[in-house]
Amino acid sequence: MIIVMNRGATEDQIGAVTSKIQSFGLDANISRGTERTVIGAIGDERKLDPEMFDSLSGVEYSMHIVKQYKIVSRESHRQDSIIDVGGIPVGGTQVQVIGGPCSVETQEQMDSAAQHVGAAGCKLMRGGAFKPRTSPYTFQGNGEEGLKMFRKAADKYKLRIVTELMDARMLDTFLRYDVDVIQIGTRSMQNFELLKEVGRINKPVILKRGMSATVSEWLMAAEYIAAGGNHNIIFCERGIRTFETAYRNVMDVTCIPVLKKETHLPVIVDPSHAGGKAWMVPALARAAIAAGADGLLVETHPNPCEAWCDADQALNPQEFQDLMGSLRGIAEVIGRNL
Ligand code: PEP
Ligand code: MN
Repeated sequence: MIIVMNRGATEDQIGAVTSKIQSFGLDANISRGTERTVIGAIGDERKLDPEMFDSLSGVEYSMHIVKQYKIVSRESHRQDSIIDVGGIPVGGTQVQVIGGPCSVETQEQMDSAAQHVGAAGCKLMRGGAFKPRTSPYTFQGNGEEGLKMFRKAADKYKLRIVTELMDARMLDTFLRYDVDVIQIGTRSMQNFELLKEVGRINKPVILKRGMSATVSEWLMAAEYIAAGGNHNIIFCERGIRTFETAYRNVMDVTCIPVLKKETHLPVIVDPSHAGGKAWMVPALARAAIAAGADGLLVETHPNPCEAWCDADQALNPQEFQDLMGSLRGIAEVIGRNL
């Protein structure tokens, strides 16, 4: 971190800054220019924050010079990390498509969904048992009963399961049903206590981007999980809020290369919650894979018209299978398999 002093800052003011730096166990390096003095904090500057210095008299401004995220950063780990989801790799040359309905509705619906998702070539399946709904009066998910139905359907077709955790108090239940990947939804990306809880366990986590979160806030959210010891994190772009109203969210394709540069962890994309309409999903899905995403999270339902949640954006089994076919061609062109 560097602290730039005001023109004419006094020796006492400089001294106050250096003592503050030293009180955190770092060394202070004073560089006296012709116009200004700049003080460098040498050591683990993540303990420091500009707020600590900007309020001191004589300080013009202060700033970090290293990134605030450490474990998730590519600086700390050059190679791409591959996350092992019960023997299925996420990241690396393989592109993984996670298909399934928005929510777990009935055993028949889940059995049928698992059958078509598996037949299309997926190894992982999605489905929400706990749903974060805008209205408290709409279907909130089947809860634990939903986990049971999901597990049963997925086991029959040897699929790994991905499902959203909204409340840390349900974590033990998730572990009991052996949920393979815990999804943290867009509305929870900055629920720091929840992030810390999933940081303590050793299960892969899909961290969706907050709908108004910057890339840097998203990386810091991942760092919360990683700091607890769980490095099995998969980023998921799901569309951000902008001024545009013609579609549900804007799928931020740009964040894919940016994240791949900033972090060694896999990056997947959810084109369903981005577009919000089934007909948009194939184009967005292809764009995401072409841009280097490591996988997709796609909503598909045995009978979209009857879906209890997000019916408009679910692909039917045939559309889903066709999408998988077209994605294979794109994956191949960029040297990956699907
Ligand atoms: C979901 O994937 O089921 C979901 C609710 O998505 P998001 O958190 O991105 O809105
Ligand atoms: Mn949904």
